[in-house]
Amino acid sequence: SIFLAIESSCDETAVAILRGEPGGVSEVLASEIASQIEEHREHGGVVPELASRSHSLSLNGLVEQALSTAGIAMANIDVFGATMGPGLASSLLVGSTAAKAMSCVSGKPFVGVNHLEGHLLSPFMDRTEVPRHVGLIVSGGHTLLMEVNSAGNYTRLGSTRDDAAGEAFDKVGKMLGLPYPGGPEIEKAARNGNSRAYDFPRSMMQGGELDFSFSGLKTAVLYTLQKDRQAKLEDIAASFQAAVVEVLVDKTIRAVKLVRAETVGISGGVSLNQQVRNAFIERCDKEGLELVIAEGSVCTDNAAMIGFAGLLKYFAGKIDGLDGDIDPNLKL
Ligand code: ATP
Ligand code: MG
Ligand code: FE
Repeated sequence: SIFLAIESSCDETAVAILRGEPGGVSEVLASEIASQIEEHREHGGVVPELASRSHSLSLNGLVEQALSTAGIAMANIDVFGATMGPGLASSLLVGSTAAKAMSCVSGKPFVGVNHLEGHLLSPFMDRTEVPRHVGLIVSGGHTLLMEVNSAGNYTRLGSTRDDAAGEAFDKVGKMLGLPYPGGPEIEKAARNGNSRAYDFPRSMMQGGELDFSFSGLKTAVLYTLQKDRQAKLEDIAASFQAAVVEVLVDKTIRAVKLVRAETVGISGGVSLNQQVRNAFIERCDKEGLELVIAEGSVCTDNAAMIGFAGLLKYFAGKIDGLDGDIDPNLKL
């Protein structure tokens, strides 16, 4: 089956075309992304009104580009899918309405996809089957630890009580005067810093706690900046990053031991961070666990991961009506 997927939950407009068969390896034929980061940068974050307008302006062109890259005619698309949530309502509406319209006109089925399921399954896009594992999603809006028994069968083990890991990177980046988004900028700055310069708090590490909290860490950085006027930006960045990495790795391994999993999957924008990757590689190696980190190209928002999750849902016989609504707070 050939699946056309649209992602528009936040500030990237994306269209992908995948080919897949039940029990086979899905093939990404095209994955086009128009990032709006430049448009939002001068505002220091995503402006919903600008985002939805930009989605509606880019979408037609991206669909045509994806069809042309894939060498597929619109008439040969078998299923249409789009992200239904979580995300910005006005942004979600643009992509989902476009996919539904194409489905309506062509008479082909429509599949609504949970954006977080897209992230969660993204490490396993080159496999015939999603293995039993513990999945960590570390993105701009979420920090989620999930027990995955198979595609579509999930139990939540932990999540953040306040800021997401990516959000903490972005907020600390802003405090340090770095451009939006802060994550990649902090990683860059941290390369020339001493990660032991500041002993920032590792929150909720006591007991068997699997939830996360990053707001105390963010506040600690703020106090340090106010108190220590000589503080080196690079040292703060490196020490902050080290605190986030330690908590992420520690809690994930805790979860793995709790549910006796043998595989760890890591996804979301923060998993692009090389220190995050290295720390997981090292620790999983030591613990004898299989580690699968999403490919760099599918860590931040993209439609290929939405198409992959959508295909698996479609193969499981789950299609959606055209009257289904988006849900900005959709849970996994
Ligand atoms: P969600 O999926 O929760 O709705 P999102 O889609 O906005 O959020 P992603 O696109 O997966 O999140 O990731 C964006 C986040 O990843 C941003 O917070 C960004 O700062 C962070 N990020 C990107 N690259 C890096 C990096 N190298 N180091 C740390 N963080 C990074
Ligand atoms: Mg984004
Ligand atoms: Fe995302």
